[in-house]
Amino acid sequence: MIPNMNYRNLKDSYLFYNIAQKTKAYLEEHPEKHLYRMGIGDVSLPLCDAVIQKLHEAVEDQASQDTFHGYMPECGDPQLRKTIAAYYQKRGVVLSDEEVFVSSGASDELGDILDLFGKEKTVLIMEPAYPAYVDANVIAGNTIIHIPAGEENGFVPMPDFSIMADIIYICSPNNPTGAVFNREALQAWVDYANQINALILFDAAYEAFIEEEEIPHSIFEIDGARNCAIEICSLSKTAGFTGTRCGYTVIPKEIFRGGMNLNQMWVRNRTTKTNGVSYIIQKGASAVFSEEGQKQIHDYIQIYKKNGACLMDVLDRLGIWYCGGKNAPYIWMKCPNGMGSWEFFDYLLREIQVVGTPGEGFGACGEGYFRFSTFGSPEDTKEAARRLEVLLRKKKLITY
Ligand code: PLP
Repeated sequence: MIPNMNYRNLKDSYLFYNIAQKTKAYLEEHPEKHLYRMGIGDVSLPLCDAVIQKLHEAVEDQASQDTFHGYMPECGDPQLRKTIAAYYQKRGVVLSDEEVFVSSGASDELGDILDLFGKEKTVLIMEPAYPAYVDANVIAGNTIIHIPAGEENGFVPMPDFSIMADIIYICSPNNPTGAVFNREALQAWVDYANQINALILFDAAYEAFIEEEEIPHSIFEIDGARNCAIEICSLSKTAGFTGTRCGYTVIPKEIFRGGMNLNQMWVRNRTTKTNGVSYIIQKGASAVFSEEGQKQIHDYIQIYKKNGACLMDVLDRLGIWYCGGKNAPYIWMKCPNGMGSWEFFDYLLREIQVVGTPGEGFGACGEGYFRFSTFGSPEDTKEAARRLEVLLRKKKLITY
């Protein structure tokens, strides 16, 4: 038996391992110090009350024969699919319930969805990127074209019609850069995908953080997207489901490739490879979309937003280049004085005990940049921002 030899081509991800090693070593040497952890991609606030209440109710349902649920439909509870379709409708996106698939989260889907495409595909990944895009395609044996993003385009690259690809990843709001694709940029990518017959995988994990009216939350707000895009979404960051696990994937019925219908193929895939998301979790997830749930999750998001505002104020005052923060829980700053991203990481850890994420870990063009997450506690964020300002002013480390 020969296993999938593509695993040999995976690069070890040293990013979070190195961060953990460096912070551990620092704390061993300085046990009295408190670290200000501004690198975390996980949420810190709990599930909101509306969700907790529904989860409790669902547990009770499972205790009694009249309300007990066994296997759920593989593609999702019909009621939840309807609820999610109605959520899109509020923004003018019309979906049928059968176009919404309830999932256990975006990571699972980002990997599994490659089942639809067969072997030896060419995949376009804009970098810096969420590392799972690259790894899932290395495992699948696909050819990856890395499209570098940079300051010159605000970390929002535009399509190059001379490049051919089968699959295009777009993440907006973006992890790690926090940049968002506006309507024109998304339209250009949709037109390009339709022209070259490619498929867009649109990762909307951070859509709930968008605050500017004109920024699309969904690729399906763009003309032509129903012919070329799949949207993968998650309740992880929207509603604190990182440990509870629920998300959804939208596949329009219009998408045909090679005479095959991708929505139908995904129904076949799900009915073969999953037995659905648990009844209890789907009940809890349904509360996210209730009026009360929406209010509560947005109150929580506001707490993260205040963290972001606090960091952005400091960067603005210092005149440091950054993107993100406004429509995303991440701020992507340029390291001062031409420092490398690991150099800046070590410097902040040593001097002010602030831990962020070196941009280089998200692809080569992330070198020289640094990611702050806004998911930490408000107290730690305030103190980290204060320390950053004092340090960079004192050392006059603001010129590039
Ligand atoms: N997509 C992006 C861009 C993310 O940053 C993350 C998690 O950090 C995910 C997907 C995964 O989300 P989930 O928790 O639903 O698997």
